[in-house]
Amino acid sequence: MTEEGSSEEGSSEVDYPYEFDEETRKKAEVYSKQKFYTGIFQSVVLYLSFLFISYLSGFSHFLVEWIRTVVEGTFLYNYWIVAAIFVMIYSALLYLISLPVSYYSGFILEHRYDLSNQTLGDWSKDQVKSFFISLIFLTPLILGVFFLGNTFSSLWWLYAGILLFVISGILSNISHLILLPLFYDLEELKDESLKERLIDMAERHGVKKVEKVVVVKAGEKTEKANAAFAGMGKTKRLLLFDTLLEKFHPKEIESVVAHEMGHYVHKDILRFMMISGLLIFPMFYISGEIFTIWGSFEQIYHLPLFLLIIYGLYSLIDPATKTYSRYRERKADRFALETVNDSNAMVSAFKRLADIDLAELDPSKYIEILFYDHPAPIKRIKMAEEEDQKDTEEDQLENKKDK
Ligand SMILES: [Zn+2]
Repeated sequence: MTEEGSSEEGSSEVDYPYEFDEETRKKAEVYSKQKFYTGIFQSVVLYLSFLFISYLSGFSHFLVEWIRTVVEGTFLYNYWIVAAIFVMIYSALLYLISLPVSYYSGFILEHRYDLSNQTLGDWSKDQVKSFFISLIFLTPLILGVFFLGNTFSSLWWLYAGILLFVISGILSNISHLILLPLFYDLEELKDESLKERLIDMAERHGVKKVEKVVVVKAGEKTEKANAAFAGMGKTKRLLLFDTLLEKFHPKEIESVVAHEMGHYVHKDILRFMMISGLLIFPMFYISGEIFTIWGSFEQIYHLPLFLLIIYGLYSLIDPATKTYSRYRERKADRFALETVNDSNAMVSAFKRLADIDLAELDPSKYIEILFYDHPAPIKRIKMAEEEDQKDTEEDQLENKKDK
C-alpha cells in the first residue's frame, strides 16, 4: 500500500538480477489471498446460487412468460426471439448481481495495491464492452445448443460439440486481431535491436516467419506484465506488454519470450483445442442425459438447470485439464532454459514477475491442483535454479576432463 510509482524508463536501467523485496512479499501474501477468495465467492457462491434460486423459485419461467406478454402482437412474438431476449436479460441479471464483487476485485483491490492505473470511467467502459462481447458469442451458442437439443434428440450432443469446437477455434485464432484492440492500444515495437534479437531467437528455434512484434499498451491500465505468440501464418505475431518492456531486464525479456516460444513450438494451443474438443462431446452427452430427467430443450426457461449441470461436469474435469496445463507450462519453462541457456535470467524474471503481480509463491498443494494453470512460482524458480546447478556440475566435469 505504498504510494511510490515505479516507472523506470528503459529496461536496461532496472536492477538485475532481481531479488525478492520483503515488503512486496508481505503485500503479496495478503493480496493474493483476498483476490483468490473473492474469485471463489463470485464464481462458486454467487453464480451457483443465482442459477439455483432463479430456477427453483420459478423466476426463469416467470421471466420467459413476462417477455411473451410484453412482445405479444408484435413481430417479436416468435419462440426463438423470445428465447434470445430471455438469454440476454438473464445474462444481464447475472452480470448485475456479481457487479459489486467485480468492482471490489477488479477495481478496489487493484487500486489498493497499486496494480491498476485505470479511472473508474475507463474500468466501467471495459466492463460494458466485455459484457456485450460475451453476449454476442454466448447468445447464439446457447440458442444453438437448445435448437439442436430440440431438433435432434439423440445426436444433438455431437452437433452441439462441433458447434462449440468451431466457435472456440475461431475465437482463439482471431481474438488477438479483433478483441485485443478493443481493450488495448497496439503499436509495433520501435526498439529495432530488441526486435531483431527476438525474431532471430524465434527463427533459430522453430518459430518461423514472425511478421510483427506488437507492443500491447497495457501500462495505462495495469502494472502486470505479459507476453504471447498469437495467430498463425500471415497473422503470426509476438505480443509484448509495454509493462514487460519497461520493467524487465533485456535478459529476462528473452527468457519470457523463450517460454512463449516453447508453447508455440510444442503446439500447445492446438493440444488444448484437441483436448477440450474431445472433452466437449462426452460432457454434452452426459449433461443431456441428466438434463432431460428434469428439464427439456423445448423450453428455454430450463436454461439455468442446463448451466448448473454443465457447471458441475466442468468442475469435475477442470482439475485434470489444469494439471495438464501445469505440465505443459513446465515443458515451456524447460524449453526456455535450454534455448536461452541462462537460468539466472529465468530465475530473475520469475521473481520479478511474482513481485509485480503480487503472486503467492507457494500455495497449498490442493489449491494448486484445483486452481492453478501454471506451476506455483516457487516451483518454477526451483526448477530453474536446479538447472543452473546441473549446468555448473557439467561444467566442472568438463573442466576435470580437460585437465
Ligand atoms: Zn506459459
